Amino acid sequence: MYGLIVIGLLWAAFVFLLRRDMAVAWAEPCLRAPVLVFEGDDWGFGPSAQADALRDIAGVLRRYADVEGRPPVMTLGVVLSGPDPARPDEPEAGILLDDAAMRPVLDSISEGVRDRVFSLQLHGMQHYHPAVLDLACRADPALAAWRRQPLAATEDLPSPLQSRWTDASVLPSRPLAPADIRLRATAEVNEFARVFGRPPAVAVPPTFVWNDTVEAAWAAAGVRVIVTPGERYEARGRDGLPVDSGHLYRNGQRCASGLMAVVRNDYYEPVRGHRAPHGLEALARKWRQRRPLLLETHRSNFVGRHARHQDSLQALDELLARATRDFPDIRFLSVETLAAAYAEGGGLIDRRLTVRLQALIARVLLPGRRRKVALLLCGLSALALLGAVLPRF
Ligand SMILES: [Zn+2]
Repeated sequence: MYGLIVIGLLWAAFVFLLRRDMAVAWAEPCLRAPVLVFEGDDWGFGPSAQADALRDIAGVLRRYADVEGRPPVMTLGVVLSGPDPARPDEPEAGILLDDAAMRPVLDSISEGVRDRVFSLQLHGMQHYHPAVLDLACRADPALAAWRRQPLAATEDLPSPLQSRWTDASVLPSRPLAPADIRLRATAEVNEFARVFGRPPAVAVPPTFVWNDTVEAAWAAAGVRVIVTPGERYEARGRDGLPVDSGHLYRNGQRCASGLMAVVRNDYYEPVRGHRAPHGLEALARKWRQRRPLLLETHRSNFVGRHARHQDSLQALDELLARATRDFPDIRFLSVETLAAAYAEGGGLIDRRLTVRLQALIARVLLPGRRRKVALLLCGLSALALLGAVLPRF
């Protein structure tokens, strides 16, 4: 009997320690079907080779459909502008997506949107902060040379300078003036609307460095959803790496800014060796948690110095072939549609208690120490129960 009391107290202590994680996990809605989204970043301004690459990606996506007839979606985090080599002394001047040099890329993007295989998200006016980059260029001739290249690839910039919403011209980075952030965040939403005919519903902060001012300005300009990695970085540290801010996000969370958060929760970067088994394993894990799988995948897999275009197309194709076979109930959605499902709480959301409890366990007891402790407690509970029952016989 004493054994049972001790086990009960151990269970209570275990649940008490996990109470915050359990509350967050419980608050996140559960999906009724597995959901897969490819989250493509960095498309838009840059090399003209994107036009063919995007057509090839759309060609692979068009081969498949979910049970409701929807093709797989690659969201495109769009960069709207970049440096104009003809005007190197004007840091704010830039080539825009509807300029003649970018037209073939814009056409490929528009074709994919028409066929519902691409869904556009705002990544930024530039994949850097022009005034910050200008400061850095003054101290570094190599950077200044990058800015004079025709249709330069922003992937080639030092990583800290690819963050748009902090001043990383020095490290650790410094905060930007709120008025500057508001001006730029509003301008990029307006530019997106000018080029694509509608404001962006979804925004993806470059390198996931942003703050409350950015969120509030996007929300005021008409953005409704923010893609996060589940947490927020607000600065770059002395080593150039993003610094944790302690802000956490979950799927379907309504932020103070009014934006709804979704969480990008794995990668599918074929140049880093990701293949179908990696994607399938992630899909199975997220489905156990009743979460969508949002696979981050960058332009650099398909275009640029390190790209392996054909190989990356094949990896995409293989994952879709096996995902549609192994998960016949799979849904292909855009982030915008997924966020709408969370907001409306309609048919895609599963409210059954048993499902929510199973998802809670899968979300909280991730492989590792926690799961081992839970298994140990289960074993001890069984022994204690046996010990309490056996003496009666
Ligand atoms: Zn990016």
